[in-house]
Amino acid sequence: AAKRTGAAAVRWSPALDERATDAARLGAELRAALDASQFRVVYQPIVELPLGRVKAVEALVRWEHPYRGLVSPAAFIPVAEQNGLIVELGDWIMRTACRRLARWRAELGPAAPERVSVNVSAKQLARPGYAATVAAILADTGLPAGCLAVEITETAVFEGGPAVVALHELRELGVRIALDDFGTGHSSLGLLQTVPVHTLKVDKSFVDNITASGRHAVIAEALIRISSGLGLSAVAEGVETAEQAAALSRLGYRYLQGYHFGRPVADPDFELVRALAAA
Ligand code: C2E
Ligand code: CA
Ligand code: CA
Ligand code: CA
Repeated sequence: AAKRTGAAAVRWSPALDERATDAARLGAELRAALDASQFRVVYQPIVELPLGRVKAVEALVRWEHPYRGLVSPAAFIPVAEQNGLIVELGDWIMRTACRRLARWRAELGPAAPERVSVNVSAKQLARPGYAATVAAILADTGLPAGCLAVEITETAVFEGGPAVVALHELRELGVRIALDDFGTGHSSLGLLQTVPVHTLKVDKSFVDNITASGRHAVIAEALIRISSGLGLSAVAEGVETAEQAAALSRLGYRYLQGYHFGRPVADPDFELVRALAAA
């Protein structure tokens, strides 16, 4: 009923009250989940064309709930941001991802990915001393700063001064900065003038219809032009088919990520990804 009545949905309703309670309950559960080690980090390959070498991996968090099963980060990251738990959870994710790549480097040598890319929320970035926290994690795990990238969205930067300062400090450390979901916000382009970005992650929405719609191809081409004109690298996200990969390659994209190359998993088989890319 709430759906049909539209505006009425914003007034108090039992359903809304329930949702607020749900969020509070979820928040408390997240705290307990962190203490009970129910979070996992999975890794999705970012491949480099033409050979399909796994250039980097993106770290993505998962919650293995004891009876609800795998809970999507889209469902719990916003709650963790609201109740502040994202700071502790985010540090744990960062530490786990850095430790993982350090181990791959030790085990695989030059066959290891060059970099791990970690999503960082506005709330983390805006906290004083965030860059020092990252520096400490790098020192503890022995991962060189150049092997780490942070993925931020525009909302992170709009948190204002402290977030921008943190980005400059991270860059000073040698950490790379990727602008996530590029092209979806209101001032993506303006942002490039104030934030020290290395990489643009071109949003999946521009990849989705690239083979069916000339308009989408034109936009994808404009975005790669912007990136190379500014001396940045571009990663196309959400590549699901060989046709999309071929179209992106023709437009000049060298770095691709998506289910076509591999889903996020705990322990990707990098050789398999390479074989798939060559096929
Ligand atoms: P994102 O950073 O844009 O991550 C990409 C999302 O797209 C991931 O969903 C990934 O599994 C999914 N994806 C990758 N390739 C494909 C594809 O070919 N097709 C489709 N349909 N989807 C694809 P996931 O892991 O569910 O994460 C959702 C969002 O949650 C992320 O979007 C990010 O904003 C947030 N998130 C995930 N992990 C973290 C984290 O560790 N920290 C923070 N702060 N946010 C995170
Ligand atoms: Ca991301
Ligand atoms: Ca993204
Ligand atoms: Ca996203």
